[in-house]
Amino acid sequence: MRPVDIQQIGNELAVKWEDGTESFVSLEKLRRCCPCAGCQGEVDIMGHLHKNPDRPLASSAFELTSFAMVGGYAIQPVWADGHSSGLFSFDYLRRVADGN
Ligand SMILES: [Zn+2]
Repeated sequence: MRPVDIQQIGNELAVKWEDGTESFVSLEKLRRCCPCAGCQGEVDIMGHLHKNPDRPLASSAFELTSFAMVGGYAIQPVWADGHSSGLFSFDYLRRVADGN
């Protein structure tokens, strides 16, 4: 499944998929599900959130500066605290979005 449109709306990322459905993911959830090596220990394979009190994040960690499409298979968010190493494959993004 691929997104045909991704927009930030308020504090959520709105994803329109090619089948016409839409997903909304809060930026906080998106950041907490960041799959990069530095963050992935906090999230299980289903994308479920495990809060880790040892890793406090500043509020800027949940502000999206921009995001880029990568290689036609993922998006790469750039966060206001400078973190940008997380690549969200479309499949993973969908799992995060649907894992409410
Ligand atoms: Zn990360």
